[in-house]
Amino acid sequence: MSEPVLEIKNLNVDYGLGDQAVHAVRDVNLTLHRGEVLGLAGESGSGKSTLAYGLTRLLAPPGVVSGGEVIYHPEKGEPYDVLGLTDKQLQAFRWAETAIVFQGAMNSLNPVHKISTQLTDVLAAHEPQMSAHSRNARAREMLKLVGISADRMDAYPHQLSGGMRQRVMIGMALILQPQVVIMDEPTTALDVVMQRQILGQLIELRERLGFSVIFITHDLSLLVEFSNRIAIMYGGRIVEEAQANSLYRDSLHPYSKGLLSSFPALRGPRRELAGIPGSPPDLKAMPTGCSFHPRCPRAFEPCAGNIPVLGNPDTPDGANRTVACWLHPVKQPVG
Ligand code: SF4
Repeated sequence: MSEPVLEIKNLNVDYGLGDQAVHAVRDVNLTLHRGEVLGLAGESGSGKSTLAYGLTRLLAPPGVVSGGEVIYHPEKGEPYDVLGLTDKQLQAFRWAETAIVFQGAMNSLNPVHKISTQLTDVLAAHEPQMSAHSRNARAREMLKLVGISADRMDAYPHQLSGGMRQRVMIGMALILQPQVVIMDEPTTALDVVMQRQILGQLIELRERLGFSVIFITHDLSLLVEFSNRIAIMYGGRIVEEAQANSLYRDSLHPYSKGLLSSFPALRGPRRELAGIPGSPPDLKAMPTGCSFHPRCPRAFEPCAGNIPVLGNPDTPDGANRTVACWLHPVKQPVG
């Protein structure tokens, strides 16, 4: 496996303080390696987006990172903790080292500015020495890279289709050639054909430019197709992590199995979709023990009383995967 570019260590994110705090992300350990696509899946409210906002320090109050480290490995120089950056350092870090693409391009693009202005503004803020001519040339080149004709530079966001707007957002995220791109449900608002076109193009760009991706979605089928590894979140915790094909063929955690049975198989005979009964837990009143136990078809005696530890299971491929479930004794805990 290639070297790490981002290491999330024991990250905790709360909403509110003291006794009133709601623990939205708990003890998350994840490593993103250079050039890989790490998928992050889970239902709404599982903590995926909060994790992304926490690690990029984009959390709005009352969200607060209450513990942990986010170690970034730059291409040159020593690794550093993103959580310890000053505001000025953070400003330089965003876009240039790590960029984020949000779900609704219409909400992220400024409706009263042309696409050209929005692309060149990023360059003006981070590379002030660059001439206006060069900024313009880079913006045109970026648009072409994401599949939009450069003659749309002077369009306003409302003059572009949803797919084109999302491509502009991806172009904007890549314009400073960051090492890490975080995509938070980037194609959810688009139809399935457009989703796959855009994600296919992103993977091509990743191969060409060499950045790494954290790809967040509730749609596990997309992750199976486009990720190298997948981590599954439930109730603010990582409950399973494995190579995408291992997770697809042989998931261990009952929640991962439930998510996989919620979408049609890519191949083979048609089958009835099972889904997962019940609703995600209320973070203000989390179930005791394994937070999935009220919905779990395999729950047994220890599940309601004890939180399962995330670690490498005692399976032939156990060194390359982790799971937190009492059904799978852990050989080596994580964190
Ligand atoms: Fe189900 Fe128990 Fe495993 Fe939780 S620990 S997923 S309740 S079997």
